[in-house]
Amino acid sequence: MTQHTQQVKDRYQAVMMPNYAVPDVVLAHGEGCVVWDVDGNSYLDLIGGIAVSALGHNHPAIVEAVTAQVSKLAHISNLFAHEGQVVLAEKLLGLLGPGITGKVFFANSGTEANEAAVKLVRRIQGSKRPVFVAAEHGFHGRSMGSLSLTGKTSIREAFSPFGVEVRFVPFGDQAALAAAVGPDCAAVFLEPTLGEGGVVPAPAGYLASVREICDAAGALFVLDEIQSGIGRTGAWFAFQAEGVIPDVITLAKGLGGGLPIGACIGIGAVGDGFLRGDHGSTFGGNPIACAAALAVLDVIERDGLLDHVSKVGEKLADGLGSIEHPLVTGARGTGLWQALVLREPAAVKVEAAAREAGFLVNAVQPDAVRIAPPLIVTQEQVDSFVDALPGILEQAGRR
Ligand code: PLP
Repeated sequence: MTQHTQQVKDRYQAVMMPNYAVPDVVLAHGEGCVVWDVDGNSYLDLIGGIAVSALGHNHPAIVEAVTAQVSKLAHISNLFAHEGQVVLAEKLLGLLGPGITGKVFFANSGTEANEAAVKLVRRIQGSKRPVFVAAEHGFHGRSMGSLSLTGKTSIREAFSPFGVEVRFVPFGDQAALAAAVGPDCAAVFLEPTLGEGGVVPAPAGYLASVREICDAAGALFVLDEIQSGIGRTGAWFAFQAEGVIPDVITLAKGLGGGLPIGACIGIGAVGDGFLRGDHGSTFGGNPIACAAALAVLDVIERDGLLDHVSKVGEKLADGLGSIEHPLVTGARGTGLWQALVLREPAAVKVEAAAREAGFLVNAVQPDAVRIAPPLIVTQEQVDSFVDALPGILEQAGRR
């Protein structure tokens, strides 16, 4: 580490709140799936700003769209309309699937998209159904409503009470869900795959059973597609592969390709649930963020990235699954959203060894290393990581 990096780290520690660990790498710029630090080292970015940078870095379509928009109007608030926001909402609704209608609220982040969903559910279900049901080890964000639904005790407990009553059930357990969803339940709030929980997909048929259980009890089904949505799994949305239609879908992360935007989509009549004045955001649906999101959606379509994600993702899964090493038990995930699963809590060591070898990955859980690269990552780039993995694991074992 050079003096420059050390100095930035020291200054970071001095002025930034201590909620984040001081990062080891100070990044300077990126191109495609490669990023460079301030010392001139390059890395293959296999985490993409935590499943955000769908088109990698410095993608011409995003640069052009954002540059053109900022030179016209950067911001107008929701007192006024701009066409880009309407086009983006139309486009997102069009991607849901044939015959599926709805309405969109734009936010700036995942947690805000989920806050909107919580309020939408409250507005529709009223006070007689005060309970939300969510998954143990699920993650929905850090603001108080979203945190109340987040099933990770260590990040919740210091901040209770939340004012939202939540019943937690084991993820993927149909019987436990059926027992938890009763006449007091407003909504079931789930991810299709636990993302921060370690890239743990729901068992086949689980989402269909969630739908049935919700329908039987009169509860709404909110699907948090903030990490899974916008092509990450090889479909526009993960629910599409399950043949299930939720009542509310939340999006963020990959939607803006690096610009901050979130969306809460109410399906069918649920989209009309808010009354005038019920919710709002000064920046939500900001012209620049919408321009970036439209560019992301256009490029995914134009370049056939959904197929690309499926193909490269399958090869990545095969490659990770074929690693024979005492530290590794296997791999899990869908599309370009995989976890290398470890026999012991060595993920931080693997992350560090990968970084030293020139690859950015993420120790998402003590025993799981997440790989969520830009959707444009090439087969060769993925292969280079799989080829380097045995050496990385050796290094990690020595730490
Ligand atoms: N929901 C899911 C499934 C997430 O993975 C995340 C972030 O990791 C969030 C919500 C919160 O998003 P944000 O960090 O943009 O608030």
